[in-house]
Amino acid sequence: MRIVEIRQEAELQDLRGQWERLLVQSASQTIFLTWEWMTAWWSAYGKVGALRILAAFDGDRLVGIAPLRAESLRRYGQTVPALLFIGDGSNDSDYLDFIIAAGCEDQVMRAFLDHIASSLHGGTVLQLNEIPESSPNLLALKSLGDTADMIAVETDVPCGTVRLPASWDDYLGMLRPRFRTKVRSVLRNLENRPEIRFGFCEDESQVRRLLPTMFDLHAKRWAQEGKPGVFGWDQKRRFYFEVSPLLLDRKALKFSWLEWNGRILACQYGFTYGDTYFQLQEGYEPASEHWNVGVGLRAWTIREFLRAGMREYDFLGGVGRHKSDWGAQTKQSKRFLFAAPTPKNILFCRGPEWETRARESAKKLVPDVVLDARAKKVEERRLAAVSQSDQPNGKEWLRSTIANCYLHLQLPALVHPVRDRYQLAVKPNGLLPKLSFSKRLTPSARILYFHRVNNDNDRFFPSISTELFEQEMKFVSRHYTVVSLAAMLDHLSGNSPEPVLAITFDDGYKDNYEQAFPILQRYGLPATIFLTTGGLDSGEPLWFEQLALAIKKTTKEFIDLEIELPQRYWMRTEEERLTSNDAIFGRLRSLPDSDRRLWMKEILRQLAVVETGERKNKMLSWDEVRTMKSKGIDFGGHTVTHPFLSRQPKEQVAWEVSECKRRIEQEIQQPVSFFAYPNGREEDFGSWNKEVIAAAGYRAAVTTIWGVNYASTDPMELRRGGPWEPSVARFAYKLDWYQLVND
Ligand SMILES: [Zn+2]
Repeated sequence: MRIVEIRQEAELQDLRGQWERLLVQSASQTIFLTWEWMTAWWSAYGKVGALRILAAFDGDRLVGIAPLRAESLRRYGQTVPALLFIGDGSNDSDYLDFIIAAGCEDQVMRAFLDHIASSLHGGTVLQLNEIPESSPNLLALKSLGDTADMIAVETDVPCGTVRLPASWDDYLGMLRPRFRTKVRSVLRNLENRPEIRFGFCEDESQVRRLLPTMFDLHAKRWAQEGKPGVFGWDQKRRFYFEVSPLLLDRKALKFSWLEWNGRILACQYGFTYGDTYFQLQEGYEPASEHWNVGVGLRAWTIREFLRAGMREYDFLGGVGRHKSDWGAQTKQSKRFLFAAPTPKNILFCRGPEWETRARESAKKLVPDVVLDARAKKVEERRLAAVSQSDQPNGKEWLRSTIANCYLHLQLPALVHPVRDRYQLAVKPNGLLPKLSFSKRLTPSARILYFHRVNNDNDRFFPSISTELFEQEMKFVSRHYTVVSLAAMLDHLSGNSPEPVLAITFDDGYKDNYEQAFPILQRYGLPATIFLTTGGLDSGEPLWFEQLALAIKKTTKEFIDLEIELPQRYWMRTEEERLTSNDAIFGRLRSLPDSDRRLWMKEILRQLAVVETGERKNKMLSWDEVRTMKSKGIDFGGHTVTHPFLSRQPKEQVAWEVSECKRRIEQEIQQPVSFFAYPNGREEDFGSWNKEVIAAAGYRAAVTTIWGVNYASTDPMELRRGGPWEPSVARFAYKLDWYQLVND
């Protein structure tokens, strides 16, 4: 018996044919021991110079391979040189082993162990992970453990595997009744939907397309539990890209997918060797959990495997409910550690065992009462940590305190003249930022925007309270130069470097007249209200108010919608309703406008709320508009129906912007020169719409994009900021700060 040590990648490349022939003759046939798997693994995770493969030759005939590599392992502060299997250490490979021609196991194993003996005596640790309990090579390993001068630690690792019967019906018969019913109904439901397709990747281009989807779905799923998942690791992604085409070549790759309207909702990555399927990774869309797409795809795949005559579905390492439900039985893999008994090695190898034992015996010594009390403490602390997150935290408190001091020490009055004439530049500079003042040279302007002003305190229809609004207006009237939008534009094209402020309202709610208008009058503040004329004309709530109202009122516990993705929206609590409201609004935001209208009908139908007129006449009347007009309030256009302009065809945008202008001008008998984009983010209005708005005769348009306006700012894309703070102190402090640094 001749042992050759292989340390060069090139030599590994040359071994391909012989390796494969030997593997087939051996008792250790798994995909993880194929030349393809090993080389792909090595190319993704391997370290230069660490290859330590042993090849055993009987004459010229290759009779054994020990697929080993060298690495330093660290535990309990001890770093030890180690020999371990190629494939071990990345959680991709199970069932690793020596590859030995059947019948030669004892002899070849002995030769391998003899070869390694000198390094073991020199202090190297031999760590052999995930050897199947059925391996004929275990005998020789155990005898190594019996050697007097060797530490040997053996541990079991449970794996789950399903022995498949002959037919799908027989298979279903193996499952517990409840789970059987679930599998049947999930699969039936999915297969009854014509927009759903199942399949396996057939070629490399499909695999290349599907792998990133699997990485994404896998990450999304783990993100829900606040964990990163395994595919954040570059090497791991590289490994999958390397190994997949090789497995595909040998027709071993079984990468299945479930697709809905062309979109992948679930995929499962595995491969076959002989008549066993190995399930390695999977991903499914968490939003579509209510369809049980993961269960559906597994059921479909198993049925396909049964048709192809497969005998085993192996879930690989780890056991749990998600495997036993499918009929998985536990089998064991073995982990071995061998090392010469140096003090370092003793701690390294025995440490985990001692730690467990110490913990167990401590438990024996401590009375149960104390243990129970401790468990309770831990639970209390956990609960406290959870509930604390609802309370303002330390930082929040500090912010409020600073803001309160700022306002109550009358600092705004001190800052005001400085702020108007100078601006502060803050540059990152190591730990402390570098501050520098410079004189303001060009005019600038800030625009605030509000929506509802009332004391309803209804989270489905958020508003600023009348009291806070009053305090904020009082503050700006004292410390800022507040001008109308028209005056602001004139100011920007002038020479005075003094900053000015303008106040605006969107949508045209009645409370603007009832609550805000008297306050504006009291402090002599000009303002512009942007009207959604359809709402004023009909007295009906705007579409997003209809949505919020129906979600608030519905008696349904959930609705299932297939906007962009099949998803269940829960409505069992107020929190869930608010979350669902935001989520549905977000989905509608990305749809073509005509689809959005169709979906709105469908959503309202599903929510099945009887119209009570609750939000009727919440918009301004034209008389109120005229009254305010006569007292110095300006009005601007905000479309007729409040659509997302970027999702509409150009002709419709043109109608929305010019029709609302026409209506307002007709009612107030004065030209309307300002427009506010509904929702106002860049992606909501689409910059290509600017020309349409200019063509309709508007002088300027405001967005909800944050920032300061200058002479150089595009008048069709003016910046605005919302009332963002819970108290006037914080509002004042922040507004002054942003003003000072021109943010
Ligand atoms: Zn609006």
